[in-house]
Amino acid sequence: MENTPLEWLALARGDLDRAGERRRDADWVAALWKDPRARVLVVEKGRTLVAGRTALVEVAPADAPPGDPWLLGVEPDGTPHFAVPGPLPEVEGAEPAGLRHVGALLGDRDSGLLTLAVALAHWHATHRFCPRCGTETRVESAGHVRVCPSDGSEHHPRVDPAVIMLVRDDDDRVLLARGPQWPADRRSILAGFVEPGESLEQAVAREVREEVGIEVRDVRYLGSQPWPLPQSLMLGFFARADGSTLLRPDSDEITDADWYSRDELTAAIGSGDIIAPGPLSIAAQLIMRWYGGPLPKMPDF
Ligand SMILES: [Zn+2]
Repeated sequence: MENTPLEWLALARGDLDRAGERRRDADWVAALWKDPRARVLVVEKGRTLVAGRTALVEVAPADAPPGDPWLLGVEPDGTPHFAVPGPLPEVEGAEPAGLRHVGALLGDRDSGLLTLAVALAHWHATHRFCPRCGTETRVESAGHVRVCPSDGSEHHPRVDPAVIMLVRDDDDRVLLARGPQWPADRRSILAGFVEPGESLEQAVAREVREEVGIEVRDVRYLGSQPWPLPQSLMLGFFARADGSTLLRPDSDEITDADWYSRDELTAAIGSGDIIAPGPLSIAAQLIMRWYGGPLPKMPDF
């Protein structure tokens, strides 16, 4: 049970057909854009329009700002969904919100649409020019590829893999720590980016060693979710402390590292001494798996 895959991850619920094999066909994409059912998610600085924080508010193509439409997916009944960057239109009953605030509240389809739209928006905004020759690239494949007109090179959206690991000791206590930039009461499990030439398991062991100075064994994968804030893919693991459990935090990356039993965590959250991650994050889902259910005082998200 404890090593079975995580069942619910807020940003890994998208279920639309991305039509990856057809989106290179510009005529097909243009026909989708003209489909009277077509809906457009407008994205501005990581935010879009929502109603009641639980549903996306999309507009018709005619009401979207001008710009390259990116195809997000097609529903089983053929309804296409696009995203376009630009100023958010005025829509009665709608308000702006970002993925961090509504990603866990939206339904499966809408969560997937916004996760992809925000990821594409960041990539397009930061990868306008060819990394080989510096020429401005043009958008193709309905927003999923950028092509250099000078040397013909194709560039695909970038995703940075990051490992996040719940480390337990042999007394089944969990390791929680605080990043130096975080509020004083915030705690989470350890995480870090995968380096070139490194397996995920090696990255887990290296990050734990670097951040708190202990070794781990029994590294087990439990699940992943995209984290386009701005461009990560979070890969979640359980691991066991191997040998000494004496924590020696690297003060550049970690402060306040400590072991918590379930009773100690319950008390620390209950008293307000620490705040655990919100349900949007894979960190919360890993901690809940270890804890055996929802954490006390799960914060609003
Ligand atoms: Zn080029």
